[in-house]
Amino acid sequence: MEAPTGRELISREEVAHRVEELGREISAAHAGEELLVVGVLRGGAVFTADLIRQLWVPVHLDFVAVSSYGKGASSSGEVRLVKDVDERVEGRNVLLVEDIVDTGLTLRYLRQEFAARHPKDLRVCALLNKPSRRLATVQVEYVGFDIPDEFVVGYGLDYAGRYRNLPCIFALSPEVYQQK
Ligand code: 5GP
Repeated sequence: MEAPTGRELISREEVAHRVEELGREISAAHAGEELLVVGVLRGGAVFTADLIRQLWVPVHLDFVAVSSYGKGASSSGEVRLVKDVDERVEGRNVLLVEDIVDTGLTLRYLRQEFAARHPKDLRVCALLNKPSRRLATVQVEYVGFDIPDEFVVGYGLDYAGRYRNLPCIFALSPEVYQQK
């Protein structure tokens, strides 16, 4: 498999173990209820697919896609919904599933967007969290791993469209993304 220049930050076994724990925690919190899981494309697709198989409450699955203006290794903060859910949100228990919370701007936008549709309950699960990069204060109920300020790829996360299929989380060497 194509491997990037960098180092393994979180192994596939560690990811799998944590996803199982998160599934247990989320299922316990929603015991006896239904959950509308909303994965955030494209980065959150792999995590969402694994997470729902660790949930033992009835699950409905949908996706949103967001785009933030600006390119490269950081987002500019202007977020836009480019694909919306087909499911009704009002009165449902909604779990937004994100790959990573970095500045928090994407998630702040998504939380506001979904809260405005009057769900019964709205929670967020992010596989990765970079607390040191936060620009917006935003609530994240479930976090897989706190990581340092490094650009990561794998397990759904890309760099210029590549590496989403790596089974572990890789920290890319700064010289790779600082060239652009
Ligand atoms: P935020 O709005 O929190 O700054 O950024 C969230 C989005 O930026 C994530 O959903 C992800 O697409 C992208 N992002 C932030 N940090 C990283 C990273 O280290 N690696 C990759 N591949 N994407 C990142």
